[in-house]
Amino acid sequence: MKVRFWGVRGSIPVPGPTTARYGGNSSCIEVRAKEGPPLILDCGTGARPLGWDLLARKVPNVEVLFTHFHMDHLFGFPFFGPIFSPNCDLTVCVPAYSGVDAQSKLGRYLNGIYHPLRIRDVAAQIRFEGVRPGRVFERGPYRIHGVSLNHPGGSCGYRIECEGKVVVYLTDTAPLARPDEGLTVDKPPPAPEARVLKAMSEADLLIMDTMFSWEEYLEKMTWGHAYPEYAVKLAKAAGVRQVALFHHAPDASDEALDQLAAKWSTATEPRVFLAREGLTLDLEG
Ligand SMILES: [Zn+2]
Ligand SMILES: [Zn+2]
Repeated sequence: MKVRFWGVRGSIPVPGPTTARYGGNSSCIEVRAKEGPPLILDCGTGARPLGWDLLARKVPNVEVLFTHFHMDHLFGFPFFGPIFSPNCDLTVCVPAYSGVDAQSKLGRYLNGIYHPLRIRDVAAQIRFEGVRPGRVFERGPYRIHGVSLNHPGGSCGYRIECEGKVVVYLTDTAPLARPDEGLTVDKPPPAPEARVLKAMSEADLLIMDTMFSWEEYLEKMTWGHAYPEYAVKLAKAAGVRQVALFHHAPDASDEALDQLAAKWSTATEPRVFLAREGLTLDLEG
């Protein structure tokens, strides 16, 4: 199973010379099994170059999973090439009660007002499905567990199992425990984190929202984002092998992210590194 980062930025895309190395596109990741369709995690602006790549590869089926509806995670969907291809079948899973509810929720953005395109006008065959945190479902070769995260309006994280490997995508989430419950000290993670720990248990790769520093988190605890100490602490406790720090702050320049990488990168387990655009990981080793 391969994982490629097409967009690693949170909140808003920030292209330009100060973000060129880590990338300015917002959240979009491609998970690719050896057999079967690719699984796309969120469609931030990284979905635009990804779409071109999928069309060039003549990929006929695409599975898309959305964590939630904030704009940085769906900016790229109306510009995602496969939706304009009559030769493409897509399944789009979003946190919703049903397929009709899923289409209606995404359709609020693609309704001819906020974007010239209406969701019913696209050329591809799109099947919408509602996913609920706490449920397990299968899409192509992927067995997927949804996990409820701590974010304004909600966000659904995913544990994805395929070919004997596990990728866990937890973005747009703040700690569940309060800061005084022991999140930064060297003792076991506090009880409220149990469901997140279970979701990431023994993962080969954890992709985790670390948009804030610890100090920023204390100032913006209700904004629904985490910080590196939290990601690394939970990853160690859960036996995770690799942690990609993800959903970088829009104001973080390449130099600032270099400093973050220097502080957090490790080669020993769990291996910690910063996600950047274009990075491809082969979980077979
Ligand atoms: Zn976001
Ligand atoms: Zn969000």
